[in-house]
Amino acid sequence: MIADLVRQTSLADIYDKVKVGTRLSYEEGLRLYESSDLHTLGFMANIVRERINGDKTYFVRNQHINYTNICNKFCKFCAFYALPGQERAYSMTPEEIQKKVLEQIEQPITEIHMVAGINPRLPYSYYLDILRAVKAVRPDVHIKAYTMVEIEQMHKLAKKPLAEVYADLKAAGLDSLPGGGAEVFAERVHQELYPLKIGGDRWVELMEAAHQAGLKSNCTMLYGHIERAEEKVDHLIRLRELQDRTGGFLAFIPLAFHPDNSDMADLPGTTGFSDLKQIAIARLMLDNIPHIKAYWIMITPQISQVALWYGADDIDGTVIEEKIYHDAGAQTPQSLTRNALAHLIREAGREPLERDNVYNLINRDYPMSE
Ligand code: SF4
Repeated sequence: MIADLVRQTSLADIYDKVKVGTRLSYEEGLRLYESSDLHTLGFMANIVRERINGDKTYFVRNQHINYTNICNKFCKFCAFYALPGQERAYSMTPEEIQKKVLEQIEQPITEIHMVAGINPRLPYSYYLDILRAVKAVRPDVHIKAYTMVEIEQMHKLAKKPLAEVYADLKAAGLDSLPGGGAEVFAERVHQELYPLKIGGDRWVELMEAAHQAGLKSNCTMLYGHIERAEEKVDHLIRLRELQDRTGGFLAFIPLAFHPDNSDMADLPGTTGFSDLKQIAIARLMLDNIPHIKAYWIMITPQISQVALWYGADDIDGTVIEEKIYHDAGAQTPQSLTRNALAHLIREAGREPLERDNVYNLINRDYPMSE
């Protein structure tokens, strides 16, 4: 019935390809962005979602630690960074990070997510020490840490080959990488919004080396600012090509731009429509990346729930004390319980599954009263 209606739309030929799992081209990606037929995009994305993941919808019990907000990159879209000496500037010592971990030690957290600004006063040893500090008090936890921007900083500080930096990080306790810092690969956007940090080519180089070093990662794209449709399609295809080469990506996370308190506060930010459309197009274009995440911190638990029928199969996690998007005006809560996440997923007619960071299942039993 719905399929008959889709066959009458301008996307009918793309639907035929999606049904049989044929890879979509750059031009077809552009047509997806040009379309306002959200339900058709979602219908097609859901075919791919169910082919890869069925009804399964993943979440993780995690804790976020943003270890410093001091940063010398001054990205225009960022509301998180601070200058040394500013009242809101902070930088945590390894002991303070350990204290944060210990505050949640009774919680059955399986992942610690650590990303932060580029504080030039932090030495290379700090990046290793904070991994060791976490593992010292929570040895079984999976540490997912450091964007490619932080990896570039470490590489500069260490003055040694990238492979050795990754080996040091793994030896200190790093388990995987979150995939941030990609923004949009287009050089136009790089020069306009974040000229002081790495561009797309370097991000791909650093990530390819990480995968070769045996580190799995996620990948991301920041959308809803000045980027153009053709730049987003190019970004997605470059991620898809990298995945063809390495197979190292676990999930793609579309990152919705939040304008509040940034240098781009005059922009309107994303909407429920654009968030769902971005998730659907990602699912359609990234045929070789197993998971698409609806990051509820950014797009609200409500839109994340709907996104489970628009291509997303992962809703992220419990997230304790997120700072980056809340500094940018995110009105979402600081954390959701495991039960609240399972309820959101169940109510949407999907199957909630708690995972670890590499998608091993933790527990299949979700009593609603807990
Ligand atoms: S986005 Fe990251 S690198 Fe850019 S200013 Fe903010 S904290 Fe620094």
